[in-house]
Amino acid sequence: MSEREPAAPSNRYPAAAEWQTVDKYFTETLVGEDPTLVAARKSGGETTMPNAEVAANQGAFLGLLVKIAGAKRVLEFGTLAGYSTIWLARSVGESGHVVTLELEPQNVAVVEENFRAAGVAERVETIVGPATESAAQLISDSVEPFDFVFIDADKPSNPAYLAAALELTRSGAVIVIDNVVRNGAVVDGDSSDPRVQGVRSVVDAITANPDLDATALQAVGEKGWDGLIIARRR
Ligand code: SAM
Repeated sequence: MSEREPAAPSNRYPAAAEWQTVDKYFTETLVGEDPTLVAARKSGGETTMPNAEVAANQGAFLGLLVKIAGAKRVLEFGTLAGYSTIWLARSVGESGHVVTLELEPQNVAVVEENFRAAGVAERVETIVGPATESAAQLISDSVEPFDFVFIDADKPSNPAYLAAALELTRSGAVIVIDNVVRNGAVVDGDSSDPRVQGVRSVVDAITANPDLDATALQAVGEKGWDGLIIARRR
């Protein structure tokens, strides 16, 4: 399985026009995606995986979760053009810090300008390379524990990213894992898609971990039919 995933899930259920219209309504009313975020989203076209960033209302949801959790230190797996990173970084506030892990130098070349334009460059640290290795380095460096983790990189590595997140977080930390529904394919235990198996393996790991409370929410919208897991360390 290449670590470069197609941007969109297979379109067994393409995003319905109504879903897109509803996303647009809430984004225009509640979310307030500013021109900097719009520019960051558009710059995804210069990355290895165009259109793979979270939707605006999902970015706002992540930002709200960070604020609700009172998180000041955030770790992200999968930066792309830094769209979700900006939502996370704005939510930790000036005294906060976000570390974001990205494999592709081509993508990292885009993010610095996006972070600067968004006014968050000072509080974001981008580490280039395979996220398992970058996270292992953070563990061996005994960095200060993180309060919030967003896992949104290559899905087959989800179990490894969860294991690293558990090494790198404090009690009470929140861990969010994106794209866990995959057009409903998550329920197919015989799936030959390693991304589906990556989701199912991380579900098994969470289920077997008595230190984690978790749930999953399905979502429909401009990105189609997908969803996320929200877990919290006891
Ligand atoms: N979180 C971003 C957002 O919402 O704006 C979207 C991230 S995109 C879905 C997934 C990203 O993970 C891509 O930029 C891809 O290059 C990166 N990626 C894939 N495999 C990786 C790996 N092994 N280590 C680190 N990053 C990886």
